[in-house]
Amino acid sequence: MAGRNKLVAANWKMNGSRADNERWLQAFRAAPAHCETIVCPPYVYLQQIVQGLAGTAAGIGAQNVSERTAGAWTGQVAAEMLLDSGASWVIVGHSERRAACGESDDVVAAKFERAVAAGLRPILCVGETLAQREQGRTQQVVAMQLDAVLRRCPAAQLAAGAVAYEPVWAIGTGRTATPQQAQEVHAAIRSRLASQDPAAAAVTRVLYGGSVKPANAQELFSQPDIDGGLIGGASLVAADFLAICAAAAR
Ligand code: PEP
Repeated sequence: MAGRNKLVAANWKMNGSRADNERWLQAFRAAPAHCETIVCPPYVYLQQIVQGLAGTAAGIGAQNVSERTAGAWTGQVAAEMLLDSGASWVIVGHSERRAACGESDDVVAAKFERAVAAGLRPILCVGETLAQREQGRTQQVVAMQLDAVLRRCPAAQLAAGAVAYEPVWAIGTGRTATPQQAQEVHAAIRSRLASQDPAAAAVTRVLYGGSVKPANAQELFSQPDIDGGLIGGASLVAADFLAICAAAAR
């Protein structure tokens, strides 16, 4: 585990308002997190969050990026625009986008490649549905999602960002993978990366996401291959997000 500092990222999804965000920022600034953190607000609030977190160590991320370069793509946002707005990270392949926006493994891999080419650090989300887990296909599904990216990008580029294992059945449901269930998949992800590049695999942060809360964070984060978390619902409450960061720092 040496060489991997814990990382905790907030995925606000489509939540927030300028007023809510300002309250969150005040609480966050008053009690800085003791581990590496990233905040991923909706696009339209990036500037507010960049300004609000200026002078803190927190990183800023977007929740999506276009797989294309700038041009006639109405409603899309290019990787360079995110950098220009102050983001240095971006979430790619979140299961909500895979399911609701039809993002295939290949589209996700193209987004990953585009983000890296522009200089962003991607957080690649992978994870199985409940049906896939019940069919015993968890590791196969996660490997396919990972391999789609590895076909386009060397494993070292995953090390520059992060991988987030997010079982779809645990996202926003209150159901969390047990630390053992999560550790098993995290170890499989690391070993898949190691088959291409052992040095990159050893330093790649693999985050867990899926109903992480202050009450379960520490047990999850104490597993050898869990290097922090991608936090949805609980990240909207600054005190809960900070408590999860504190659990990562222990
Ligand atoms: C997520 O959507 O990335 C997530 C982990 O959500 P939640 O924490 O709400 O399950």
